[in-house]
Amino acid sequence: MLIFEKVDQIQAHLLNYTPSESIGFVPTMGALHQGHISLIQQAKQENSIVVCSIFVNPIQFNNPNDLLKYPRTFDEDVNLLEKAGCDILFFPSEAEMYPKLDETKYDFGHLEVVMEGKSRPGHFRGVAVVVRRLFEIIKPHKSYFGKKDFQQLKIVESLVKQYNLSPEIIPCEIIREFDGLAMSSRNMRLTAKQRTEAPLIYQTLKNSVLLAKSLPICEIIEYVVNTINRSDLMKVEYFEIADGDSLMPIYHWHESKNPMGFIVVNLGEIRLIDNINFIL
Ligand code: AMP
Repeated sequence: MLIFEKVDQIQAHLLNYTPSESIGFVPTMGALHQGHISLIQQAKQENSIVVCSIFVNPIQFNNPNDLLKYPRTFDEDVNLLEKAGCDILFFPSEAEMYPKLDETKYDFGHLEVVMEGKSRPGHFRGVAVVVRRLFEIIKPHKSYFGKKDFQQLKIVESLVKQYNLSPEIIPCEIIREFDGLAMSSRNMRLTAKQRTEAPLIYQTLKNSVLLAKSLPICEIIEYVVNTINRSDLMKVEYFEIADGDSLMPIYHWHESKNPMGFIVVNLGEIRLIDNINFIL
């Protein structure tokens, strides 16, 4: 695997490929796990060349402590990427990424004011700026995003549409641990005790899907929040049921053909995110 830290070097290298050779791109913040690797594997199946980026993007962190404590495991990441057959790793510094300010007034409408947008002001602007800049550097044909960060996926789709960016956005399924916990770089910061409790999040989401056949939305929300909050170690920051396309909250099942549940749970200072489809 080739590793580039400089924009002009990776761009010069990518010029070696012919337009018929498609570039699949997986942007990440590192501390890689099987969730990221599944994106690399899918990109490998569908493209001639796979590029992964590792950049802990400071402007998408609204909490300086979260940025400071974000895990950085570069050597292990390189190992995993090599094993997965990734061709190129782009590992830029902040100065390489942001030589000048992006002053675009991004507007994602409703998508950026609900859930993560409400809880993390400025987060999606940071995501939009970094993704647009990475697309401009790599010029991928396809780019892969996990459904774990579902709202981010919707923001990226909107960004591509609004600014006519070239890559096709490929949504990828959530990869989970054996006990159902959604894989996340943040999981490695959980204490042993927190780690044993954390699977309750997905268990509760799955049970809520079963209960949804007979209960109204308000009771499902109550069930999920109360079940998880019963644990001393976990506190639900939000649980919302919304339409999976518009992300508009729904209050009755008939209001959406694609209802989804979106949750954030805090375990101490660690924030875990997950979602589920309600198949009614
Ligand atoms: P991150 O490094 O957290 O910015 O994630 C990079 C990409 O990997 C994003 O598109 C995430 O949605 C995706 N991703 C992270 N965790 C998972 C997972 N457990 N399953 C599928 N995709 C994931």
